[in-house]
Order: sequence, then structure tokens, then C-alpha cells
Amino acid sequence: MNDAAGKLFIISGPSGAGKSTVLRRVLEQSPVPARLSVSATTRPPRPGEVAGRDYYFLSDDEFREKRRRGEFLEAKEVFGQGKWYGTLWEEVRSGWRAGQAVILEIDVEGAMAVRDAVPDAVTIFLHPGPAEELEKRLRARGTESDEEIARRLATARRELEKLPLYQYEVINDDVDRAAGEICEILRREMSAPAENAT
Ligand code: ADP
Ligand code: 5GP
Repeated sequence: MNDAAGKLFIISGPSGAGKSTVLRRVLEQSPVPARLSVSATTRPPRPGEVAGRDYYFLSDDEFREKRRRGEFLEAKEVFGQGKWYGTLWEEVRSGWRAGQAVILEIDVEGAMAVRDAVPDAVTIFLHPGPAEELEKRLRARGTESDEEIARRLATARRELEKLPLYQYEVINDDVDRAAGEICEILRREMSAPAENAT
């Protein structure tokens, strides 16, 4: 079903794992044509965010209408605050048509929904290594209380349990190294034949 030689890559990982930082580097260095899929959301833009670059900012009605028309590969209400987020088929398909590696940065639940819709999507879990490493970084940063650090570590451990659902594990011990490893995954997977190509 891939329109050309494009492929879908899903990157998940705990908040603070370094996904945005590493993906920025990946896009600069990728050995294959690559793009980051821009999601749609009903939450308002934060200062500095640019429509069409960070998100497509939609009204509730616009989002609902697109869901009704089946324009989302997956869509979900995040944080139970009535704010919707979703991956647009058109973002993915236009990347495929251009033969690109289309990268989604998405939470675990969204990742599994995407994998169900696109079985040959490549799944990558990025995390900062052992929980002790995350604890060291948080303590070194010195911006959270002991209680907050404990809470974040508990969340990180819970999220790490999802690791076996993913094909690749990349440890973000160093931004350049982790980006290099993801670039190598992109190169290898883009040269492999798509299993469900028609
Ligand atoms: P995410 O997108 O997964 O929430 P970010 O990319 O925003 O994470 O990174 C969270 C913080 O960690 C940022 O301050 C970033 O500069 C820092 N960071 C990212 N990668 C590393 C690394 N390998 N070593 C140390 N700090 C890092
Ligand atoms: P933020 O509002 O901070 O940009 O994102 C909040 C949450 O929404 C993050 O956990 C992020 O992973 C998630 N998110 C962003 N885009 C999508 C998307 O297209 N689909 C899903 N399911 N979640 C998304």
C-alpha cells in the first residue's frame, strides 16, 4: 500500500528521553530522504510554535470533520482535557509518494494504533538508558524536588515496560551517537523491500 518506496518510522519514548533533540539531528544527517510528519491538534499554539511546522492547529469542528472523513491514520484525546491530537494520512502519503522515510514522534498508544493500520511501519523506542542515568541527569539539573524526581522515575519505569513492543531500542546516551544509530536504521530499512507493498 506504500505509494512509492517510502516507509513509516515510529519513534516513542518517555518524556524527556530526547526525542525532539535526536530527531532534529537525524533530519540534518539522514542518509535517505526523510521528513517528520506534522500532527494535527485542537490545542492552541504555544508561543514560538508555527502552524504547519509544529502542528496543524485546528478548531474542534475542523478536527471532528476530518475524523468523520477518515483523514486520520490515528487520532486520540490526550490528557482527558478535550484536546485532540492525530496523524494525518495525507502527511504520510505525501511522504511516501516522494519516496521518503516518514517519521512519527508519537506516544505508545498512538504507535500501536499506527502499527495496526500500517503493519510494515518500523518501530523505535528511544530512552535515556538505565533509570539511574535519568535520575543522575535530573539531579544534576537540580530543577526538580526529590518528590518530583521520584514521580518522574516511576513514570519512566512504567514507560520502559513498553520497550518489548518495539523492534528497535535506541539509548540516548549521546545525541550524536543515538542520531547515528537511527540514521543507520533508516538506511537499512529503506533499502529493504516493503512487505505489504502492492
Ligand atoms: P523529548 O522530546 O523526548 O521530551 P527533548 O528532546 O525535549 O525530549 O530533551 C529533553 C532534555 O534533555 C533537553 O533539555 C535536551 O537538551 C536534553 N537532552 C537530550 N538528549 C540528551 C543527551 N543525550 N544527554 C544529555 N541531555 C540530553
Ligand atoms: P504537546 O501538547 O506537548 O505538543 O503534546 C502532548 C502529547 O500529545 C505528547 O504526549 C505527544 O506525544 C502527543 N501527540 C502529539 N501528536 C500526536 C499525534 O499525532 N497522535 C497522538 N496519538 N498523540 C500525539
